Amino acid sequence: MSQWIYLNGEYVTKEEATVSVYDHGFLYGDGIFEGIRIYNGNIFKCKEHLDRLYDSAKSIMLNIPLTYSEMEQALVETIRRNGLKDGYIRLVVSRGPGDLGLDPRRSPKASVIIIVEQLSIYPEEAYIHGLKTVSVSTRRNVPDALNPKIKSLNYLNNILVKIQANLAGVGEAIMLNSQGYVAEGSSDNIFIVKRGTVFTPPCYCGALEGITRAAIIEICQKIGYTVKEEPFTLHDVYVADEVFFTGTAAEVIAVREVDARIIGEGKAGPITTRLLQEFRNIVEVDGVKVYE
Ligand code: PMP
Repeated sequence: MSQWIYLNGEYVTKEEATVSVYDHGFLYGDGIFEGIRIYNGNIFKCKEHLDRLYDSAKSIMLNIPLTYSEMEQALVETIRRNGLKDGYIRLVVSRGPGDLGLDPRRSPKASVIIIVEQLSIYPEEAYIHGLKTVSVSTRRNVPDALNPKIKSLNYLNNILVKIQANLAGVGEAIMLNSQGYVAEGSSDNIFIVKRGTVFTPPCYCGALEGITRAAIIEICQKIGYTVKEEPFTLHDVYVADEVFFTGTAAEVIAVREVDARIIGEGKAGPITTRLLQEFRNIVEVDGVKVYE
């Protein structure tokens, strides 16, 4: 079966799915995106993802040419046409085709793209053994330059982190903000656990308002773990009992080693394991159903 991609109101094949070289998403990274999961026909946290998309659009004054409910319908229809029950959605809205100048007024029509695909990021053993990770020298964008809360197409900051992760031979790395506090990974939020309390950096430290992050905070509160959004440093990460990353693709993945310091027992700890289980319990129920 061929893959159908939503491109500006039409469903086209992967080969036909092309955008203009004058699209400002391509020329300047001018646009926004979301990565969303489908679990057994459920678009997990669909509303939260669309809220973040429309907030990012408002912040950069990008007019999305679809209403909120039209966008939700386009997601549902794209998944149906591809017959997928489990997978990953990439929703992109770019400023659209313009000229070579920066001026967004010359890009009157945003481009909207929805790609749905199968996803496999980490093997199941990685969730038990945990990832090895390192901190990198690339610092998080400061909020008064390109605010990390905007999920923009300009991911160069994150790609520089990924390059450093690749050079170190690890799958994900830890990025600090310009003040030296831990911000997040290249495409994941970070949590640490110390003496039973769960900590994650507040978004003003340079963390994206991750949907998985919010889900984990909510789960912690529900099952009675104390969770604090507080700035912390690499030292706190090194001496933590548990460390884990959260993200749409990665879900909740333990870290076993940071900059050659073994974390806890050097494998997924009990709180991380419980949070992953609790998270997987909600992924099929919390969201929008595609096939009903
Ligand atoms: N931080 C960054 C920079 C990201 O790109 C992502 C995910 N794409 C996350 C954190 C995790 O966010 P979410 O849980 O919404 O996927």
